[in-house]
Amino acid sequence: MDDSKLMNDSTFMGVSREKIDWSPRIDYNKCNYCMECVEFCPHKVFEVRENEEQKLIVKNPNNCVVFCRACSKTCGLDALDFPDKGKTTAHIKLIRKETAKNE
Ligand code: SF4
Ligand code: SF4
Repeated sequence: MDDSKLMNDSTFMGVSREKIDWSPRIDYNKCNYCMECVEFCPHKVFEVRENEEQKLIVKNPNNCVVFCRACSKTCGLDALDFPDKGKTTAHIKLIRKETAKNE
């Protein structure tokens, strides 16, 4: 099934988006602040900061589309990583099961 059909603004597969830990992790040892990832992603996940040592942060992790990894493909330095998909899926299933039990 197409992931986008499972999602609306605040839930994914019926689970509150805030309970799902899925967003890019920036490896500051690799990132050169080329900002390709920022330009690529339309969801305002990243924030560019002018006068900070870390010129790029993940400001809105819950805006990231669950299981999307597209921006990492724009990063030539391989500086973006994501949680394990299998573990995230297991976590979502567990929450669904617990929610069903309590209903
Ligand atoms: S594309 Fe990669 S190197 Fe460029 S700003 Fe994003 S994380 Fe950093
Ligand atoms: S994984 Fe997808 S939605 Fe998330 S920040 Fe990257 S491009 Fe945006």
